[in-house]
Amino acid sequence: MGGNTPKIYILDVTNRDGVQTAKLSLAKLEKTMVNIYLNQMGIHQSEFGFPVTRHEVNYINANLELAEMGVLSPIILSGWVRAIPQDVEVACSQTNVKHLNLSISTSRQMIESKFKGKYTKDDILRIMSEAVKVARAKGIQTIGVNAEDASRTDDDYLYQFAKYAKDAGADRLRYCDTVGYDEPSTIYRRIYELAKKVNMAIEVHCHNDLGLAVANSIAGARGANDAGVDAYINTTINGVGERAGNADLVSVILALKYSSGTAGKYILDENVKLNMAWKICKYASYAFGIPIPINQPGVGANMYAHESGIHADGALKDWRNYELYHYEDIGRGEPEIIETGRQIVVGEYSGIKGFRNVYDKLEIEFKDEEEARRILELVRYANVHKQKPLTEDELRFIAQYPEIVRKILTMTPGGQ
Ligand SMILES: [Zn+2]
Repeated sequence: MGGNTPKIYILDVTNRDGVQTAKLSLAKLEKTMVNIYLNQMGIHQSEFGFPVTRHEVNYINANLELAEMGVLSPIILSGWVRAIPQDVEVACSQTNVKHLNLSISTSRQMIESKFKGKYTKDDILRIMSEAVKVARAKGIQTIGVNAEDASRTDDDYLYQFAKYAKDAGADRLRYCDTVGYDEPSTIYRRIYELAKKVNMAIEVHCHNDLGLAVANSIAGARGANDAGVDAYINTTINGVGERAGNADLVSVILALKYSSGTAGKYILDENVKLNMAWKICKYASYAFGIPIPINQPGVGANMYAHESGIHADGALKDWRNYELYHYEDIGRGEPEIIETGRQIVVGEYSGIKGFRNVYDKLEIEFKDEEEARRILELVRYANVHKQKPLTEDELRFIAQYPEIVRKILTMTPGGQ
């Protein structure tokens, strides 16, 4: 066990668990913006995609270029693959990914009813270990191993799995409550005991099928820290994710900073900037096309609205009477300006005049007509690609990094 006090880091999986959800998706440009906002928010890591999936390759490599340019830095960009050697090899051959999570099922339910005799428990230990060793040999810098359905995996086998992962060279174990089966006391105990025995950093990945994803994430992270190891809570923006979703990013941060059980007692990564919450949640809501419920923690429309006599009176006398955290902590308070008169927008059929008008308003200048026309062409393609109006930040990003955007927008099905 290290001498340092263990901490809690955030690993956001919006660009993986969020986008793999039924009926939800993000364009590659939107995924890129999510990475940019997560980086601005000081989030430690973004699980940014699937490096084995062909249509992700250009997006992944372009975002890794942004990382090298210092645009996506210091955030760690990590890929998700199955914990089999072949996936690691393909990921490393077609992308420049430097950080990976390797995932395989560990519960009896899934081994019996998903693999159906293809893999035994021993096979899983062996194949996962081989995959970790391949990742090490390929120079992968951060290796997490995901025990899918860990919450329904028996204690002994889960420990054995973690031990094999560590011995093969993994840095972290991801405890996946894949179907949201845990509750705070069970996940605390299981992660505490696992972390004590195996002594490696634990990622806590919770789903919200019982409405407990945030509570379980906090309890699991406490279990890891109390056992002396770092915890990495997996979150998604606005809680989007499979079925009932994942642990909501902003709620997890709020709970760690302001709850009576954790505030001042556990250490959240000090780089996290909660005042980016408003911006990132609004963007994700727009990009996914899912409105933010009015009662959503932190960013809901009713969060700072008081009507009933006693509450309004109390909040006016001292906001702390009826609010736990201030709206400025969330990055709220700026008025939002909505154009109600004539509006010129750029889209897939725009011409140069309208385009110039929009960029003039953003105070972005082009060095000559040729450059303006080149950016216009990219903007048109970007609009075709995401099928909804581009945001100001997206327009700025396109003008600033046209070569990167060109790569992100390029997809060629069926091989090279
Ligand atoms: Zn998940």
